[in-house]
Amino acid sequence: MQNDCIFCKIANGEIPSATLYEDEEFRVILDLGPASKGHALILPKKHAANLFELPDETAEKALIVAKRIAGVLKEGLHAEGLNLVQNNGAAAGQTVEHFHIHLIPRYQNDTVNVTWQPGELSEEEKGEILKLFR
Ligand code: 5GP
Ligand code: ZN
Repeated sequence: MQNDCIFCKIANGEIPSATLYEDEEFRVILDLGPASKGHALILPKKHAANLFELPDETAEKALIVAKRIAGVLKEGLHAEGLNLVQNNGAAAGQTVEHFHIHLIPRYQNDTVNVTWQPGELSEEEKGEILKLFR
């Protein structure tokens, strides 16, 4: 647990929260400023600032938790879709530096915006990126 990390305190029960699910490694809570009805956050109890710091084992389990909670939210709230969102770094919109996954149930004509303008991929950029993985 990291001092002064609000999500460490919430995840470990030091600060009360609307908890949907809890096990030894995770707590799933309702977001205080929901993008839509049922917006929830998956928090690992052990501090990792972001995806880059997250242990593989936690990463693996987090997606299984996400899948289970997503199913209950979608069915129980009659959502028509659901976005998983996970921000890393201020440039990507991360405001709390403790890894978390957003579960955002989606409804027809809701006001949630998780979109981008399609850009263009130049041959040079494509080559540069593909080279990273060779
Ligand atoms: P980020 O922008 O870092 O991906 O998302 C942070 C999220 O945490 C935001 O959606 C914000 O509403 C939520 N949040 C921030 N502080 C609290 C809090 O104290 N309790 C809860 N439940 N959610 C919080
Ligand atoms: Zn933390």
